[in-house]
Amino acid sequence: MLNLIIFGAPGSGKGTQSEKIIDNYGLYHISTGEVLRDHIARGTELGKIADKYISQGQLIPDDLMISILDDVLDKNSHLTTKGVIFDGFPRTIPQAEALTTLMDKRNMKVDAVVGLEVNENELIDRILKRGQETHRADDNLETVKKRLDVYHHQTTPLREYYIDKGLYHPIQGSGSVDSIFNSIKTRLDNL
Ligand code: AMP
Repeated sequence: MLNLIIFGAPGSGKGTQSEKIIDNYGLYHISTGEVLRDHIARGTELGKIADKYISQGQLIPDDLMISILDDVLDKNSHLTTKGVIFDGFPRTIPQAEALTTLMDKRNMKVDAVVGLEVNENELIDRILKRGQETHRADDNLETVKKRLDVYHHQTTPLREYYIDKGLYHPIQGSGSVDSIFNSIKTRLDNL
């Protein structure tokens, strides 16, 4: 079993590299952003709450996000036997601590954190391009700036947190999709 966190700023390529990791290692993909967008599209109560935060570039409150993740893990336990790739979670220290508890109670653990490192100008360019291509509602300049700000304040402390645990693997996230994936694969195959 291999359980990974793919970590990085908005636009760092987490979704793209997750797909390649899944193809290679047969992991189950849990993207909290996708889970929330699905709720919004279906017009659920949770979707209505999530939409307020997402459209402002803010994080969904920790307690709510943690209970959503617990639920996703419960409902998909039959799909997670080879392992899970967490994409977009955790985004705060309390979420990271909760993840350890959620994994413990299922006899699972995080094996590695793959940290995609991309400079800020490239992040903004990539997100705006994605906004034009996919019409994702929060991929506009105003929201992007807020999301990057939230990332720097609330999420970057996780880098140190996982370095201290010896789990963090920095990956240069610029360059071709395949060359980035090769760097990831080299790390994962040597765990
Ligand atoms: P993403 O697709 O991962 O970029 O997530 C899109 C948006 O969903 C974020 O900007 C947040 O508003 C919300 N979101 C996704 N994952 C989380 C999380 N782990 N904690 C709080 N909010 C989240």
